[in-house]
Amino acid sequence: MVSNLTKTRQASVHTLGCRLNQSESQLIREKLAVAGYEMTPFGERADLGIINTCTVTREAEAKCRQAIRQFIRRNPHAFTAVVGCYSQMGARAIAEISGVDLIIGNQDKLSVLDYVELGKNERPVIVRERIDQGDFSIRFVGDQPFNKRANLKIQDGCDFMCTFCIIPFARGRARSREYHNLLAEAQSLAARGVREIVLTGVNIGTYASEGLDIVSLVDRLDVVPGIARIRISSIEPTTIPTDLFERMRSADHALLPYLHIPMQSGSNRILRQMRRKYTVEDFTDFIAQAAEAVPDLCLGTDILAGFPGERGEEFTETCQTFLNNPFAYGHVFPYSEREGTIAAKRAEQVPVPERQRRCAYLRRLGAQKRHDYYERHLGRTLEVLFEDQRDGFWPGYTGNYIRVVCSSSDDLTNRRARVRLDRAGAEFVEGTILEMID
Ligand code: SF4
Repeated sequence: MVSNLTKTRQASVHTLGCRLNQSESQLIREKLAVAGYEMTPFGERADLGIINTCTVTREAEAKCRQAIRQFIRRNPHAFTAVVGCYSQMGARAIAEISGVDLIIGNQDKLSVLDYVELGKNERPVIVRERIDQGDFSIRFVGDQPFNKRANLKIQDGCDFMCTFCIIPFARGRARSREYHNLLAEAQSLAARGVREIVLTGVNIGTYASEGLDIVSLVDRLDVVPGIARIRISSIEPTTIPTDLFERMRSADHALLPYLHIPMQSGSNRILRQMRRKYTVEDFTDFIAQAAEAVPDLCLGTDILAGFPGERGEEFTETCQTFLNNPFAYGHVFPYSEREGTIAAKRAEQVPVPERQRRCAYLRRLGAQKRHDYYERHLGRTLEVLFEDQRDGFWPGYTGNYIRVVCSSSDDLTNRRARVRLDRAGAEFVEGTILEMID
């Protein structure tokens, strides 16, 4: 098998779940490319398939199993490796899928290629029960040409132990990536043309390494030549230093005016049962303070619908809190029992169809909020960083996370422009380029 792999060298990596998984998949892809594999899109023929999985809900796990089966069906002779959070928590279920050659948990997933080289006959399961603590570094930072927005992993794991969440079990306790190690990757990304880096992790507000916290970290990254934008991905409500606000407001700092803060529920009773570390009042006071301090701020949130014991009145409180606060959008998830968590043992589980009904309702509110957010910005001129051309148009994001689409006969890939926002649709705003910045 090894010789077959080295001869053909077609590999595809498929990612499910969060931005942190995406950043780890990117590192795996770059390792594969350096080892001589040619990357093919998932779904096409490949000799090696790596499925980087998620365990956050039952639906996520079902999608992982579906993706694994799909890969094996299309590539019955390929080497199939399953890595990540679902491998960590559900190795036994994955091993039952005929055709899986390798299962690797979170600790070792970036070393997946070393195990692939063992060949098909070994069928190892590399899942460590305890994930290493303490700061960590990533030995490989990649050297492939790459010139778009890039995720930069700065942290992993979480100590908060919210009662619904499997992540502290799947990814272990909170630990930070060594500053000099992540700086090397940031410099390498910038040297390859990346303009925007997105700081990712599970609980990134708790970042602490080499005497730096999240504020001093963004200051250090701000001066890396070539990095024009720094975006903080999802960050826990009680971990956000207000010192970030002046940096988000300043045109001279690369930190973008964007905060994605998971609220989870708008009911104090439910927040207590989730063991979240704040009340609704703490949360709404904080976002009001943030919105006032950073006029252009985009505020997004996560909401969990149908937590055990959530009654109609508490769901209504959540809807009202979502509606009455300055959110630009919300990501809504149905509660899902995760084995081993406190909430999964609760007697008052909300029936699944009711969870889905509540989700659908919140998502409708979310679509309206997003549209209102887009409309509020019409007529303004904002900086957009463009991505690859799609369907003849150029998509990109403003600093405050408005999806903008423009038409141009020029190549705008990875370039910035000042764009007037003209028309708001459900998913994006149509804009007119007034001036190229670079
Ligand atoms: S803060 Fe809570 S919800 Fe977020 S990863 Fe940690 S335990 Fe899970």
